[in-house]
Amino acid sequence: MVTRKAKKVAPRKSVKKAVKRTRIVKKAASRKPVARKRAAKKAPARKAAPKKAGGFKLTYATMFNPPEEMHNRFETALAKIKAEMGREHGMIIGGKEVLAPEKFEDRSPINQDWLLGRFQKGTVEHGRQALQAARKAFYGWSRMSWKDRVRLMRKAADIIDKRIYEFGAVLSLEVGKNRTEGLGDAAETADLIRYACDRVEENKGFIVPMGKDPIPGFNIQNVSVLRPYGVWVVISPFNFPCALTGGPVGAALVAGNTVVMKPATNTPWTVRLIAEALRDAGLPDGVFNYVSGPGSTIGQELIENPGVDGITFTGSYDVGMGIFRKFAGGRYVRPAILELGGKNPCVVTKNADLDRASLGIVRSAFGLQGQKCSANSRIYVEKPVYDKLVERLVDMTNKLTIGDPTVRGVFLGPVINEGSYRDFKQFTEELSKAGKILAGGKVRTDGAFAKGYFCQPTLVGDVPLNHRLWKHEMFLPITMVAPINSLEEGMKLANDTEYGLTAGFYGSKQETAVFFDGIEAGVNYANRPQGSTTGAWPGFQPFGGWKGSGSSGKNAGGHYYVQLYMHEQIQTLVA
Ligand code: NDP
Repeated sequence: MVTRKAKKVAPRKSVKKAVKRTRIVKKAASRKPVARKRAAKKAPARKAAPKKAGGFKLTYATMFNPPEEMHNRFETALAKIKAEMGREHGMIIGGKEVLAPEKFEDRSPINQDWLLGRFQKGTVEHGRQALQAARKAFYGWSRMSWKDRVRLMRKAADIIDKRIYEFGAVLSLEVGKNRTEGLGDAAETADLIRYACDRVEENKGFIVPMGKDPIPGFNIQNVSVLRPYGVWVVISPFNFPCALTGGPVGAALVAGNTVVMKPATNTPWTVRLIAEALRDAGLPDGVFNYVSGPGSTIGQELIENPGVDGITFTGSYDVGMGIFRKFAGGRYVRPAILELGGKNPCVVTKNADLDRASLGIVRSAFGLQGQKCSANSRIYVEKPVYDKLVERLVDMTNKLTIGDPTVRGVFLGPVINEGSYRDFKQFTEELSKAGKILAGGKVRTDGAFAKGYFCQPTLVGDVPLNHRLWKHEMFLPITMVAPINSLEEGMKLANDTEYGLTAGFYGSKQETAVFFDGIEAGVNYANRPQGSTTGAWPGFQPFGGWKGSGSSGKNAGGHYYVQLYMHEQIQTLVA
């Protein structure tokens, strides 16, 4: 089903040189253990990412050139997973497999004839049962020593790692991710869980002795303790069903909460695998609960039920804001961590390295078919280099491979469902009238594409800057490019949106300082060929949004994240 000869988006010469330079710098650093030790003392925040066999560690920044072994193991796992397609999967409530009277089918966006599995259409009553089970398990789990919780959660992360190729194959079939993206989603999940464990350990369970009151004749001990809230609900989107379920679930659990998780209707299989990893790690019954079914019924119950103490919702702005307002209708204020959409800009100045810029932009605009919250959907280019950059973008976009994303070398798989496929046709029609389609613009229906939802990667120019689609998150492989007169104008346009998730920049060192200082977004990259706006990794680029893209102001996979799942208690004892 690969349309063109499998051709990687390979780094050009200058990029290769830069990568080589980085390696040399790393080597030099490794020759100075004393200096490294000193640096580690100063910044103890992050343990080095664990290296995998052969020294290769998969992240979204390293995934473009994986070793051969990774492909072989993926193929084996894919064959195994394909043989398991079509089975029925239950929900897991209070440690038991629970079936609902009605089921729904999970079909692959690659080929609608592929029935991946039958899942339970959980009802409002199942939502209630899951919350009750989580409540029942809370006392025991929250009173367990933090060291034991960390041990169990590390075990769950190790299980995910051990089954990573099976996770990757399911992600590829269920979401339409290419194999490295699928494996990345799973690897990120394990790292997010470990990162939360690391923070709890590093902070010794967040039990902090405070000052003694200066009152003569009394020995007054004060202790600050971070304690879990109670029952936590995690609702995740279709595009990163593994990391965006497992990450928040991991943080909530290691903090001592119990959890009810609900996947998007399009991705119940991946989330079921996370639940199985938690179960197999030996978490007690009811500590985690996995329910499936529509957001509009069971999902709604998880928002409205007063038995919920906190929620993490990752998804679209509109659904998220609706949930936030509903959740605020309780008797008192409860924590709501919202991770919402993006409309991520990239600014390119006349001083940019255009090799890096074009490579980074194409990867971020079209990776996972543009269905990343961090996708690069707006590109502002200074006029002197506009034509040159656009020419490269068109050339590279036209060379991207579309097809069955489980096949080696395919870069773009299908979009998630018929709704997205329809949106693609409508948006491209609207954009072709407002501006000029420079590359792509069509859906693919020929041959093996006929039974899936395949859309060409699409680059659009000449769209007036006041057009509505400069601000609307399309969530598709469509990106728009416009010329600008100056960095100042680019920054103004970049910030002129309700979103503030990620942003990219290519230009001189001095200009980069202006970009970092002025940009209104949570995750920002400069001069990065691995992706202009995408590719964050826990412990390296903690991920979260500003403005309409996120509510907590603290990024997942970062220093301050796990604390969001706990409230502070002061304990004063007069001895
Ligand atoms: P949606 O907002 O459509 O759905 C997200 C989740 O909410 C799904 O599990 C959905 O279930 C559920 N849901 C829908 N309605 C309700 C409701 N009334 N009550 C409770 N739950 C409900 O998002 P998508 O799945 O389409 O994901 C794409 C969106 O997610 C994009 O906007 C993207 O930018 C954003 N996103 C943000 C990220 C971030 O970190 N900021 C990361 C990844 C994605 P169901 O499927 O059953 O309807």
